[in-house]
Amino acid sequence: MISAGDFIADVVRADNAAGTYSQRVQTRFPPEPNGYLHIGHAKAITADFGIAKQFGGICNLRFDDTNPDTEEVEYVESIIDDIAWLGFTPAQVLYASDYFEALYQWAESLIERGLAYVDDQDQEAISAQRGGYGKPGVESPYRNRTVEENLDLFRRMRAGQFADGAKTLRAKIDMQSDNMQMRDPVMYRIRRGHHHRTGDAWVIYPMYDWAHGQSDALEGVTHSMCTLEFVSNRTLYDWYLSHLDLPYEKPQQLEFARLELTYTVTSKRKLKQLVDDGVVDGWDDPRMPTLQGVRRRGYPAAAIRNFCTHIGINKTNSRHAIEELESFVRAELNRVAQRRMAVVRPLKLVIDNWPTEDGRTIAEARQAGEDAPAVTQWFEIPNNPENPEDGTRLVPFSGQLWIEAEDFAEVPPPKFFRLSPGKEVRLRGAFLVTATEAVKDGDGKVVEVRATYDPASKGGNAPDGRKVKSTMHWVSADHGCDAEVRLYERMFTNDAPGSTTGDPLDDLNPASMEVLAAKVEPALAPVEGGVAPGQVVQFERIGYFAADPRTPMLFHRTVGLKDDWASLQKRS
Ligand code: ATP
Ligand code: MG
Repeated sequence: MISAGDFIADVVRADNAAGTYSQRVQTRFPPEPNGYLHIGHAKAITADFGIAKQFGGICNLRFDDTNPDTEEVEYVESIIDDIAWLGFTPAQVLYASDYFEALYQWAESLIERGLAYVDDQDQEAISAQRGGYGKPGVESPYRNRTVEENLDLFRRMRAGQFADGAKTLRAKIDMQSDNMQMRDPVMYRIRRGHHHRTGDAWVIYPMYDWAHGQSDALEGVTHSMCTLEFVSNRTLYDWYLSHLDLPYEKPQQLEFARLELTYTVTSKRKLKQLVDDGVVDGWDDPRMPTLQGVRRRGYPAAAIRNFCTHIGINKTNSRHAIEELESFVRAELNRVAQRRMAVVRPLKLVIDNWPTEDGRTIAEARQAGEDAPAVTQWFEIPNNPENPEDGTRLVPFSGQLWIEAEDFAEVPPPKFFRLSPGKEVRLRGAFLVTATEAVKDGDGKVVEVRATYDPASKGGNAPDGRKVKSTMHWVSADHGCDAEVRLYERMFTNDAPGSTTGDPLDDLNPASMEVLAAKVEPALAPVEGGVAPGQVVQFERIGYFAADPRTPMLFHRTVGLKDDWASLQKRS
């Protein structure tokens, strides 16, 4: 049994035993509001909130909003909404931008202690001087300015006296450090950009490293979790904090592996490109791995939480099979989703000996060239055999039905046990029927199947106990409703998108969506007692489908019924 946060939980236990934080545990989830959250973030959220909960601590949501160019209120709102949907409640919602003044004062304190200086060089020159691994760094010609000069210049940077990019504030650490992050990192840049919260109040903005640890420290965070790519930033995180007067004990950064899934990407930048290029229909396109996307597609929040808990918090980056996540989705839906009948590729089935309301049969009425109304019978069908408490519903049955086109074969291939001329099958919960004839159009395409039913088989079983091999779903043509059904395939054709060319977009699957005109039972209509926006149901024998949250009679396939994860594991 793997449990979330194992190695991090060990650190917390050790800190508690040593009294490092006086038994306090405080974490934060720190997204930059520059896009929508994706499934990878769900892992971080589960870890951040999970550790806090496990140790009776608190977890805040803190927006790392230090870049005015890429951040928007729309993203802030969607992130708040997504976290609530996932089932977590932040103790507080905080913003790094609320600390701009505190960060500024701390920066002045570093200048006063000779630990930061104003550099007049541009970003390009600074990068060139940084050197590289085994390549010495070159000290800036501005590195040894006096404290007075640095303070004066920094104040004038804040006051807007210099052009964008004309100067930076840099920490004075070590231009020969083996860790590139320590080679006099930039703390502030000049940038006139309208910030979504501070407006035009600031023209200097702090860099990530000069905001993150400081925000943690100001809030009283104890354990600051992030992903592995920040390992080399930890030294800088610690350096900054060790040179400041902190209101609480010094927080510590702990890194865990990112969550990556096969056949999809978890990078806000790449996902934004898909939206901007119109490859998908917005951030909540059901093919997107965003939380808004998987939610619209019908993934239950509980399934995502269970998956994240199951994979745990580890220290090696790896790509998890999307099939594994889907198996959690299926397990949850199998428990909670009601069963309904929908025919996604409809073919008409006419039951010749079915009674009409005027006492004839459909065949007799047809022979007379009349379209006499057929008798309707209502069948009580369980909503979820896995959960009797979900009760039953009445489903109308009549002499003209829709069946799945692939459930009929005029000339059945070997081992085809569904409907074909002369073959008897069960129509789920209703009657046994035998096909008699395939009616074709001029092109030889089957457009209608004629059949007879056994009136003694009401409920689906013959009194003589004779066996049929197939049970098929159906929708009464007289009562069914039209619906649009969208089937989804993987968004990328490569299990590691971009692994061959470097650009995931080269591996886009051009056939990731199929749109079908389906016929569905009346209980799927968006009327009272029908299907609710966003509700997920199982279309019997077809898969799980989510009713679109906005458009009535539009259904998205969440997952199919087959457990691909089980078969993948058997193969390996
Ligand atoms: P992206 O590259 O998609 O923009 P990011 O790391 O820049 O992601 P942030 O908004 O900065 O996104 O992330 C907020 C938190 O979520 C960070 O602590 C980050 O480490 C974590 N996180 C981001 N992506 C993943 C992922 N794929 N798996 C686990 N945690 C992640
Ligand atoms: Mg980031």
